[in-house]
Amino acid sequence: MIKMPEPDQAVLARRVEIVAALRRIVPGEGVIDSERERRAFECDGLTAYRELPMVVVLPETTAQVVEVLRYCRSNTIKVVPRGAGTSLSGGALPLKDGVLLGLGKFNRILEIDVANRCVTAQPGVTNLGVTHAVQAHGLYYAPDPSSQICCTIGGNVAENSGGVHCLKYGLTTNNVIGLELVTMDGEVIRVGGKHFDSGGYDLLGVVVGSEGMLGVVTEVTVRVLPLPPGARALLIGFPSVEASGDCVASVIGAGIIPGGMEIMDRLAIEAAEAFVHAGYPLDAEALLIVELDGCAAEVDHLIAEVEAIAARHGATSCRASRSEEERLLFWAGRKAAFPAAGRLAPDYYCMDGTIPRKEIGRVLQRMKQMEARYGLRAANVFHAGDGNLHPLILYDANKPGELKRAEEFGADILKLCVEVGGVLTGEHGVGVEKRDLMPAMFSEIDLNQQQRLKCAFDPESLLNPGKVFPQLCRCAELGRMHVHAGELRFPDLPRF
Ligand SMILES: Cc1cc2nc3c(=O)[nH]c(=O)nc-3n(C[C@H](O)[C@H](O)[C@H](O)COP(=O)(O)OP(=O)(O)OC[C@H]3O[C@@H](n4cnc5c(N)ncnc54)[C@H](O)[C@@H]3O)c2cc1C
Repeated sequence: MIKMPEPDQAVLARRVEIVAALRRIVPGEGVIDSERERRAFECDGLTAYRELPMVVVLPETTAQVVEVLRYCRSNTIKVVPRGAGTSLSGGALPLKDGVLLGLGKFNRILEIDVANRCVTAQPGVTNLGVTHAVQAHGLYYAPDPSSQICCTIGGNVAENSGGVHCLKYGLTTNNVIGLELVTMDGEVIRVGGKHFDSGGYDLLGVVVGSEGMLGVVTEVTVRVLPLPPGARALLIGFPSVEASGDCVASVIGAGIIPGGMEIMDRLAIEAAEAFVHAGYPLDAEALLIVELDGCAAEVDHLIAEVEAIAARHGATSCRASRSEEERLLFWAGRKAAFPAAGRLAPDYYCMDGTIPRKEIGRVLQRMKQMEARYGLRAANVFHAGDGNLHPLILYDANKPGELKRAEEFGADILKLCVEVGGVLTGEHGVGVEKRDLMPAMFSEIDLNQQQRLKCAFDPESLLNPGKVFPQLCRCAELGRMHVHAGELRFPDLPRF
C-alpha cells in the first residue's frame, strides 16, 4: 500500500484561517472550500495542466474584491483571477497555495450609452452578452473570439482577445475605452472613460493584455459599432495551403480589408464539415473564408475583386453566400472548428503564434515537415488576415510521451514564428504555456523592464505569479530584483 504523506498541520491550520477570513468578507455561498467543488476550477481551456486551488472565492461587489485583495496582500497570499476559465494558455491555472478569485458573479450590464456608442459592463458578462445588450439599437461589439458564447469581457481584457472580425475592427485593446481596476493593495483605479483620449501614460494599453497580473478588472467600458448594412462571405477552395496563404497576402496587398479572412486546412475542413454541414469543399487542401461588409454595391464590387485575385492564385472553387442564413452557415463551421477537432483525436494542443502574412505559406510548409518529425498531426484553422496561426496539435494524453512530444512540436512552431519575424502569441496570451519560450523573443533587458512594470503594480508578486515570466522575480527596493529560478519546461532556451 502506498503511504500518503501526512498533511502539514501548520499548512492545514493556515488554510482554515484563510477560509474563515474570506467567509467574513464574502458571506453566504461565495467561498468554495470542499475538494469536490474546487475540482471544477482545477484547470482552464489548457486542460493538460491541472492544480487544485487552495480555496475559491466568488465576490459580488467591488468592495468585496477590495477586501479580499487587502486581506491577501497583508497575509502574503497569492491570488489568481478567473473569468470563465476558457484561456488556452493556462492563464487562469490555479495555485495550490493561492486563492482563486472568480468574477462570475459580476455579470451585469451597468450602462448602455447609445449617444456615445459605448457599453459599461461588469467583467463577468460574456463577450456575446455585450452584443446581445445593444443589438436592439442596431449596434454590436466587434471583437468576437470563437469562445464568445461563454468567455467573459474581463477575460478578454486580460488576454487582449481577438476574433474573426478583428482584422478590420481591431483587437480588444482597440475597443476598450475605460476600466475599473483593483490593485493588490486594494486600491481602486479608474483608467480611461467614455472619451477616446486622456493625458498621462497609456495605462489602458498597459492593463489590456496584462493576463491578470497587474490588478483585478471590476468594470469595463467598450465601444460598440453600428451593424454594417450588409455582408456576404466567400468560400474559396485551394489546391494547397501555401496558395491560400499567398492569396491572403495579395488581397491585403490590393488594399482590401475584409471583415474577416480565415483559413482552414484539409483536416480542419473535414472535421468541421462532418460536425456542422456548412457545405465546405471536401476536395480542397485549404479553404479560405472571406467576408466583405458594407453597402450592397461595395460588397458586390469587392466580391468580384477577391474572386479575381483567388483565380490568379489557382483557386479550385469559389462560392459566395446568397442569404444571411447561408453567410452564417459558412461561419458556423469555422466557429465550431476547435470543438470539431475533438473528432480527430482525444486531445489537442492549440498553439497561437503570429507571423507576417507573406510568410504563411512557407511556415505551413515547415510545419508539415515537423509533423513527420514528431509523428503527430496538426490541423490548421486560423485568422489568416492577421497572420495569426492556430495549429491544433492532435495527440492522445493516455499514450505515454505524446503530450511531451506535442509540447515540443508546439514550442518548435512558436520558435519558427519568431524566426520569420513574428511573435509568440496573437491573442491567447502567454500564461504558463509559452512562459518558458519568452527568452526566444525577448532579451534579458526586455524581460527585466517588463517585470519592473509588474513590480510597480504588485511589488510582492502575489497576483497570478508563475505566469508570463520564465523566472519569478521579487521586486526589491529601488526597482532592483532578486531572481528565484523555478523549474523550467524548455531548459535548452537561453536564460538569464
Ligand atoms: C473553443 C475556444 C475557442 C477560443 N477562441 C478564441 C479566439 O477566437 N480568440 C481569442 O482571443 N481567444 C480564444 N479562446 C481563448 C479564450 O476564450 C480567451 O482568452 C478569453 O478571453 C478568456 O476569457 P475567460 O473569461 O474564459 O478568462 P479566463 O480563462 O478565466 O482567464 C484568462 C486570463 O484572464 C485573467 N482574468 C480573467 N478575468 C479577469 C479579471 N476580471 N481581471 C483581471 N484578470 C482577469 C485570468 O487571470 C487569466 O490570466 C478560445 C478558447 C476556447 C476554449
